[in-house]
Amino acid sequence: MSEAPILRDTIRSNGREALQKNIQAALALSEAIRSTLGPKGLDKLLIDDEGRTLVTNDGVTVLETAKVEHPVAKMMINASSTQDRIAKDGTTSTVILAGEMLQNAWQLVLQGIHPSTIARGYRKAEQYVLQCIPEIKLNSNAKINETVVKTSLAGKGHYSMQEVIAKVSLDAVQIVVDENNSVDMSKIKLISQTGGRVEDSKVFKGLMLPKNRISSDMKKEVLGGKILLVDGGLEKKNVSTDLKLNVGSIGILESFRQEERKMLMQQVDKIVEHGVDVLACRESIDDDVKSYLVEKGIQAFRRVARSDLNMLARACGARLVNSIQTSRVNDIGDLVSSKNINIDGKDFWIVESDGKAATIVAKGSTVDILGEVERCFDDSLGVSVQLIEDGFVVCGGGASYVALARRLRRYAETIPGREQLAIEAYADAIEVIVRVLAENAGIDPISALLDVVAEQTNSNSDQIGINLTTGKPGNMLDLEVLEPQGIVKQALIGATEVAISVLRIDDVLWAKQDLEMPELPEDEM
Ligand code: ADP
Ligand code: MG
Repeated sequence: MSEAPILRDTIRSNGREALQKNIQAALALSEAIRSTLGPKGLDKLLIDDEGRTLVTNDGVTVLETAKVEHPVAKMMINASSTQDRIAKDGTTSTVILAGEMLQNAWQLVLQGIHPSTIARGYRKAEQYVLQCIPEIKLNSNAKINETVVKTSLAGKGHYSMQEVIAKVSLDAVQIVVDENNSVDMSKIKLISQTGGRVEDSKVFKGLMLPKNRISSDMKKEVLGGKILLVDGGLEKKNVSTDLKLNVGSIGILESFRQEERKMLMQQVDKIVEHGVDVLACRESIDDDVKSYLVEKGIQAFRRVARSDLNMLARACGARLVNSIQTSRVNDIGDLVSSKNINIDGKDFWIVESDGKAATIVAKGSTVDILGEVERCFDDSLGVSVQLIEDGFVVCGGGASYVALARRLRRYAETIPGREQLAIEAYADAIEVIVRVLAENAGIDPISALLDVVAEQTNSNSDQIGINLTTGKPGNMLDLEVLEPQGIVKQALIGATEVAISVLRIDDVLWAKQDLEMPELPEDEM
């Protein structure tokens, strides 16, 4: 049977051949980032088409920078990006797990097991391990939280930097967490400053902006009060550019200006009428208005970025107004305090409110270091949020994966038929984390895994993982190598999803990229 015309310009591969090619693509990708896993993982030097370089040890950064064409490789990268978005960590693990699941699946295919049977077995295995995580999770506390955040920074920066970043991130999250234990990340603001050491990074309660009030005659500190946020300014229009007036005499222009000034003052009167103590505008505030504001005892700030005004609005329960004249009482927010302070010679405006907000001032000696510090804060804030919201951790160093694999093997025995083999293959696959951690630390991976499994079984403990310093099994709780349960959970979910999707693909229809012009048969020329 000839191919349908619709497939004429496609390259087609199906069945086992398609699966083999797809798995090869997935494996190539996981091989590429394998060596970055864990605290002993090495860095990658990335160079883009314009010659810019970036040294990183972050799996998702490597993958997102790579120019990858293969659709299955893109699926793996998406899984890693999803992991980054949801769990902020575990991005390398997700890809390594997916690669191993697929490799083991291929071995079963070679033994004659159908990919859809394997997919079903993998789904059962995933559901079973997720069900088992509560059995191995541990309650966290303040001290554990700090070590967990530090573990998530392993391999990035030096120890004292990790310590400060972990502490500051946790403090920031503690400030904004609400009664329901949920954290709105948009209430945490990060200000970066070059100069100073990373260790000088600090967190402040409230929102902090690098601003000074418009006049030093205004109050430096307002305790309790109301705030109005204006998405515009309090300034006279520039006549020559904004309006076309037929001005017959100088007097007309003057009276026009006076009228304008009067309207501005009326706006200030309106602000006073609303009982506003603090005013923040996105645009400018004129000088004559400034003195009137001073007279009325209002603290005012100008040229505040819209993103900052939005943050203030959320924190103070206010709404940005376009025009003061039409503003209503509901638009006005409440604040606990609004202060101008000076830190290391720089002026800051700090607003505290019931809506809770935190500002991290990150320091670094150079722009490059600061960039690295910002990436670390991004990760450690994500991990801190998970810890505070969820409160459970599992042992790292591959311990939790081995503990889950041990349970899975016992479960597999209860499943009749070929799915049993798939569940066993899944158990073998998730143990890959121990092997790769060992490999990257120069430890024999096979012995490391066998030793950890034996030690967990003999001591009946789920906390035994690989101690990368000694190369021997060790108790990860004692060694303080712990991670949020959510990271392991999400890594398993993401990896299984990719593996199953790839196993389900039976047909690959690939449009021919560079279509050549069809040659006309000679008799038609
Ligand atoms: P990912 O992108 O998957 O988070 P990482 O390079 O951050 O990859 O490595 C995380 C892995 O390293 C986790 O499995 C974690 O348990 C392990 N790990 C971190 N620190 C240690 C340590 N001191 N000893 C053993 N394993 C560790
Ligand atoms: Mg990590």
